Amino acid sequence: SKFREGLTKTRDALVGKVGELFSRRKKIDEEFFEELEEILIGADVGVNTVMELIDELRAEVKKRKIEEPAELQPILSEKLVEMLRGSDDEVGMKENPNGITVILFVGVNGVGKTTTIGKLAWRYKQQGKNVLLAAGDTFRAGAIEQLEVWGQRVGVDVIKQESGSDPAAVMFDAVQEAKRRNVDVLICDTAGRLQNKHNLMEELAKIHRVIQREIPSAPHETLLVLDATTGQNALQQAKLFGEKSGVTGLVLTKLDGTAKGGIVIAIRNELSLPVKFVGLGEQMDDLQQFDADQFVHALFA
Ligand code: GDP
Repeated sequence: SKFREGLTKTRDALVGKVGELFSRRKKIDEEFFEELEEILIGADVGVNTVMELIDELRAEVKKRKIEEPAELQPILSEKLVEMLRGSDDEVGMKENPNGITVILFVGVNGVGKTTTIGKLAWRYKQQGKNVLLAAGDTFRAGAIEQLEVWGQRVGVDVIKQESGSDPAAVMFDAVQEAKRRNVDVLICDTAGRLQNKHNLMEELAKIHRVIQREIPSAPHETLLVLDATTGQNALQQAKLFGEKSGVTGLVLTKLDGTAKGGIVIAIRNELSLPVKFVGLGEQMDDLQQFDADQFVHALFA
């Protein structure tokens, strides 16, 4: 499956080594746990999460009187699924049952925000939905054009103003146009500069206000896009953005290009934000809805 293919590098780095450890070692001792710790940290599972995992495994070993590493391997998978699985209401995307669903995208430049917007637009189009894009990143040179390229590729219109204009004004236009056209889903890009964090947060707050004035229940999702290849940096960005910008879910991109896929586990475990999608390539159909069981299965099976 797409998951299996996209996670090849992580699987080789993480599972290959874990599997080798579990079959090479005949005894569960301190050295065994130390080696396991090292492998997990190496795959960017994150120190806190690794400590938690190891503690839980130690407890299971004691409780179930496990002696052989092979017996412990399925328990490790179980624990990982537990960490990755959210509550039921986090699964899938929230939608507006009575009108336009508004999805806001936030994230630092270069993480794959535009690409993800394009892929998501395509996904909704495939479901027969009427989609519109809003070019709310009026700051970065080329951002509007890049979104338009994706719009053309996917067959979806982009509402824009000239570069440098007020993003909130773009959003206002986009919502009016979405209403006029009876659109099902409006997907909005926003600026990703981090040089001036305070201004960016103000800008996002203003965008929220403008959208909410027109559609009180909106935005229905605010997705923070993170680049999985940056490992622990992605976790830091999630902490930074997550607190202030009303983020409701995460997208982890470029999982196909990294052995650091363990970051998904760290992010899921250390933040109370659900991972909604993962990016597994540069093409339109390379966006997968996140599923904990499938993810772990793709890694270990
Ligand atoms: P933005 O600045 O956040 O809008 O980032 P872009 O959407 O322009 O993406 C930056 C680069 O990452 C581009 O070359 C994309 O093709 C690439 N990219 C985005 N998502 C993925 C992904 O899931 N996998 C891979 N391999 N590349 C990706």
